Amino acid sequence: MAGTVSDMSASRPVSQVCHALSPFGTTIFSEMTTLARAHDAINLGQGFPDFDGPDILHEAVTTAIRDGHNQYAPLAGLPALQEAAARDASEYLGRTVDGAAEVTVTSGCTEAIAAALLGLLNPGDEVLAFEPFYDSYPACCALAGARLKTITLRPPAFEFDAAALEAAVTPDTRVVLLNTPHNPTGRVATAAELDAIARICIAHDLIAITDEVYDRIVLEGEHLCLAAREGMADRTITLRSLGKTFSVTGWKIGWAIAPPHLTAAVRAAHQFLTYAVSTPMQHAAVAALGLGSAFYDDLQDDYRRRRDCLLPALEASGLTPHPPQGTYFVMCDHSALGHGDADAYCRWLVKTRGVAAIPPGSFYANPQTGASLVRFAFCKRLETLQEAVRRL
Ligand code: GLN
Repeated sequence: MAGTVSDMSASRPVSQVCHALSPFGTTIFSEMTTLARAHDAINLGQGFPDFDGPDILHEAVTTAIRDGHNQYAPLAGLPALQEAAARDASEYLGRTVDGAAEVTVTSGCTEAIAAALLGLLNPGDEVLAFEPFYDSYPACCALAGARLKTITLRPPAFEFDAAALEAAVTPDTRVVLLNTPHNPTGRVATAAELDAIARICIAHDLIAITDEVYDRIVLEGEHLCLAAREGMADRTITLRSLGKTFSVTGWKIGWAIAPPHLTAAVRAAHQFLTYAVSTPMQHAAVAALGLGSAFYDDLQDDYRRRRDCLLPALEASGLTPHPPQGTYFVMCDHSALGHGDADAYCRWLVKTRGVAAIPPGSFYANPQTGASLVRFAFCKRLETLQEAVRRL
């Protein structure tokens, strides 16, 4: 019979991934979650909570579906959510935000990052970001035909070094992409760091995009917005989301806040990436943003308890943790354990200890820069963390 198995494997089609994306492979988050499942491991890799957010959100989404809110939302977002996001942001930005004109609802912050970069950049433009970075940054720059240049955050404190940032500016630089509170280092940018970055943006006429999805998970100090620093309101796109704050990472609701001339760029791309975002989830997002400050205080207390449960065990296992000021991640140095680079250590850990973590190589321009580090996520129930502690 024609077409035997061996015939088929001999003519296996070659991968058709485009040149821009082929260097990126499968994201490390999917890879480690798959490995965690295969080894029945406690997954402290990909950052998603193993608990549900507030009941009121679940009721709000069910009610929205029952009430017939099941068709396309407006391109820029449900007006009620634009208004709620604007009210919420006004507190951080120190100015009144116009929801209809300045808020664009996206499919999580990951789409907001893509829409901002694809909507703004021309081929040959340069983007500056601190590394380690979220792995979508270089992929989106590649799609836009832009270059990503990185400035390395160094342990133990991972300070944002403005002098190094300024040294990297060239005539092609258009955008500074800043993430604070910073995943994966847990660094929270200080007022002095933000002022120094603002001064550079103004001096070199750069646009800032700030990824602030961990804005409500601050364990030490306080979260400050680059957009609120003097002279920055007109040149900053602030990105926020629902997933981390309300423990609903699967809902994929994020938003971009920017003055109209920058919002135009975000919407130009957003309309062709997703057009609009899940309508019932947007209704529930309005309810979430109405919960208020007591909810955020409890969230932070819970995260301090989770951090305090995990960190001593990481240290006792021979790692050197770099305690985070924000986010639900902790970076540790694993080199004293002698398992080789981060990939080797994480494979050993998941197979022999049944705990999954993230090797941060794909968060660096040169993966070797992060070879001695490993990231653990502590967005898990205390019981889950206690079991991880036992296994470690
Ligand atoms: N932001 C999450 C993390 O850092 C994961 C996002 C994703 O899986 N793409 O773990």
